[in-house]
Amino acid sequence: MIKPLEAPKRFLFGPGPSPVHPRVYEAMRQPIVGHLDPYFFQVSEEIRGWLKMCFGTKNEFTMVVSGTGSAGMECAVTNFVEPGAKVAIFANGYFSDRLAEMARRHGAEIVRFEKPWGETYTDSEAAALIAAEKPRVAAFVHAETSTGAHQPGHAICKAAHDVGALVIADCVTSLGGMPVEVDEAGIDIAYSGTQKALGCPPGLAPITCSPRALEWLRRRKAPSVSWYLDLKLLLEYYQSGHRYHHTAPISMFYALREALAVIAEEGLEACWARHKRNHEKFVAGLQEMGIEMLVAEGHRLWTLSTPRVPEGINELNARQRLMAEHGIEIAGGFGPLAGKVFRIGTMGYGSSENNIELLLGALKDVLKAEGYSGQAA
Ligand SMILES: *Cc1c(COP(=O)(O)O)cnc(C)c1O
Repeated sequence: MIKPLEAPKRFLFGPGPSPVHPRVYEAMRQPIVGHLDPYFFQVSEEIRGWLKMCFGTKNEFTMVVSGTGSAGMECAVTNFVEPGAKVAIFANGYFSDRLAEMARRHGAEIVRFEKPWGETYTDSEAAALIAAEKPRVAAFVHAETSTGAHQPGHAICKAAHDVGALVIADCVTSLGGMPVEVDEAGIDIAYSGTQKALGCPPGLAPITCSPRALEWLRRRKAPSVSWYLDLKLLLEYYQSGHRYHHTAPISMFYALREALAVIAEEGLEACWARHKRNHEKFVAGLQEMGIEMLVAEGHRLWTLSTPRVPEGINELNARQRLMAEHGIEIAGGFGPLAGKVFRIGTMGYGSSENNIELLLGALKDVLKAEGYSGQAA
């Protein structure tokens, strides 16, 4: 006899996947229906409605693509970046680099604006950079998970629209946990993933496109090089003809439906407020321990915090001890931030007052065991 699978229970406080609500697990064990079954499209319609709410948009063109957040990113790029198009990247972390790499592979001419990891662009910087380069597409990361920095999109979008450019925004770590404001900011294409602030397992990528973006897409002559992520084909499956394109991962749709129902029941604004409150409580606790934050106040994500690793502490040892002694998973910095910061996610179902206390207590223990004796200055 082979024993049935039995996965360990971890406390997931890394940059994703985040803890999953019991209701979502429950939904995932429901019987699947066919991918052309009316019940499936009913679930898909519920998802679309709640995603519009989370994105802050009226965009009719709001749906999910099969795959993780990176599939959402690649979907945005493959549909809206044509070979030879000038694409401006607001670089300030790892995920803007990934966007740039995808656009490069699609034959774009890349213009990179550079900021140190952990910093963001001011409105006037964003406007001046766009006005100088006049790109066809501008892309930025709304919630940069490699640094913990929040880049608002309003000024980028306004400047981009002034030069006729489309704007792509990566909202993977903000959707559900912070305001995204697609319509108010004027974002043309926003995508996300399910396993961060939505509190669902990884597997689907929500995406929304403005009427402007859609108009551009309709006029686009050559089809996107990706067949699987071709939004025109996906649109026929999900929204108009329900014509077979690929077999949707049914159980993931159930999961996302339930995760969004949980958010809708709490109320989206209450959900944001919970993320903010718990994030602030966490930061206050860290500061009491004498630990500083990488990102300046007012520019921090409510979903993921990046405290600096205290002087004399080995970041990897501390994380390993946290896992071994407390079963808690957090992440370290990488790239220019390797060894310098922790990346600690408190998002979705994981963002609770209890969890903040658990995290602070465990961090205190671990850092002390690693030789940290610091306290608030
Ligand atoms: C996690 C993440 C992605 C990629 O999502 P995957 O689900 O890992 O493919 C993209 N952008 C940001 C900002 C992320 O945090």
